[in-house]
Amino acid sequence: PKTAPKSPLTLYLAAPRGFCAGVDRAIKIVEMAIDKWGAPVYVRHEIVHNKFVVDGLKKLGAIFVEELDEAPTDRPVIFSAHGVPKAIPAEAERREMVFVDATCPLVSKVHIEAERHSENGLQMVMIGHAGHPETIGTMGQLPDGEVLLVEKPSDVADLDVRDPEKLAFITQTTLSVDDTIEVVAALKERFPTIVGPHKEDICYATTNRQAAVKAIASNIDALLVIGAPNSSNSKRLVEVGSANGCAYSQLVQRAGDIDWRALDGIRSVGITAGASAPEVLVNEVIDAFKSRFDVTVELVETAQENVEFKVPRILRVPA
Ligand code: SF4
Repeated sequence: PKTAPKSPLTLYLAAPRGFCAGVDRAIKIVEMAIDKWGAPVYVRHEIVHNKFVVDGLKKLGAIFVEELDEAPTDRPVIFSAHGVPKAIPAEAERREMVFVDATCPLVSKVHIEAERHSENGLQMVMIGHAGHPETIGTMGQLPDGEVLLVEKPSDVADLDVRDPEKLAFITQTTLSVDDTIEVVAALKERFPTIVGPHKEDICYATTNRQAAVKAIASNIDALLVIGAPNSSNSKRLVEVGSANGCAYSQLVQRAGDIDWRALDGIRSVGITAGASAPEVLVNEVIDAFKSRFDVTVELVETAQENVEFKVPRILRVPA
């Protein structure tokens, strides 16, 4: 029997998408650490928020733990790209462990900003998502109470600050660019002298991925974001799609998660990937579309990236 002809579908592929320089570096750090010290190497928290990446590193000999005391003292331990509170490296030193910090340099930059403001006598307000490891790590650069957290504009009214004239704000690197503008405006309205970063702390990768989605959102019937449910920047991409005119946005980890019934009758789809999602998963999703539709792929590139970060020195010198 003849199969019905596939219906035509235009697939808008957003660029930039997927891996950022911080994720690339963090994965390299784990691979190089296993090369240097042999398996197992321990990693505190998912090195980056992606199950496929984590599973691949497990196969090479990485063991993932949530807390430092789950790792033995005689094996190296790596801290994830999201950053860690100051107490963690301090504890690793106290236990005389070999450790490698895979915190993204753009997160470390925010840590340094927080410290500098604090030395200048300013109390910090962090714009971020409660419970996300980056927020925990950044707040943990300073003693308890020195960093207050706000998630949305309405949180600003509830802030209980030490001195309204002595404040600075910092942000998580993976926030929604547009939503953050509103929170900053609320902060400046209540605390006109609050000091902020020259250029916000949202990183280049987050900014570029959101801009690429904005460029296609109003032209597409559906947006698929490839990323993990605990990946902050991936979740923001879904929201950016919805906020900019795309009727249906879904976060999927793999092609198997696609809800084909929800996509019934669509003529165009946008595809992007969060900063921790590898390109093989993007290709898997594109192939899944090709098996069901007569696909034309259009690349929509709104920026080019050439950022690269060096791995820590300890991995660049022979054992
Ligand atoms: Fe670094 Fe930005 Fe990537 Fe986070 S999303 S690891 S801050 S480059």
